[in-house]
Amino acid sequence: MEPDPHSDFHSSETGAPFRDCISCGLPFDHAPETPYLVAKSYRRGECIFEYAICEDCRTSMSREFSRDSRQALNLFFQERVNLSERSSLLSHQYVPAPWIQKCAACEKPRNEAESYSLGGMLLGSDMIYDPYPLCLCGNCEEEIQSLLSPGTKGIWDEFVDTHFDGPPSNLEDLPVKGRPVLF
Ligand SMILES: [Zn+2]
Ligand SMILES: [Zn+2]
Repeated sequence: MEPDPHSDFHSSETGAPFRDCISCGLPFDHAPETPYLVAKSYRRGECIFEYAICEDCRTSMSREFSRDSRQALNLFFQERVNLSERSSLLSHQYVPAPWIQKCAACEKPRNEAESYSLGGMLLGSDMIYDPYPLCLCGNCEEEIQSLLSPGTKGIWDEFVDTHFDGPPSNLEDLPVKGRPVLF
């Protein structure tokens, strides 16, 4: 059997596709029109943090971010991520692998990064391409975190406190302390 090309975006906990939104509980198979973001963070090859969030929750959460933080994030992606090169990947086949083989910002190969995060937008079992799916290495995540205002970091921390049973034991090892940067 062919391996599922989207398996990087399945839950590492269950081995199956994510079933519902971490925030509102929306079951994705009941909402085939609602895209959702899958975010996963790895350290030394092991997934230590993961969730899926529906587009509606993601939008309302990012609206709470400070204007400065949103601008800083946009600027980082404009200046540091080669979006046109990524778009040209579309002329190849629609599989996630080439999109996530290296850090989208510094181009460090994923398999050489001590920690990294993956983000992918899905609609049902389909992947939505460009600019996602993408990979950011731990160093670049740290850089992004440093751009965020204390208020925006607080929103992340609250998100993690609310939705995870205490931070996973090794979350503190992540450069960004479990504050997702792919959003
Ligand atoms: Zn939701
Ligand atoms: Zn990087």
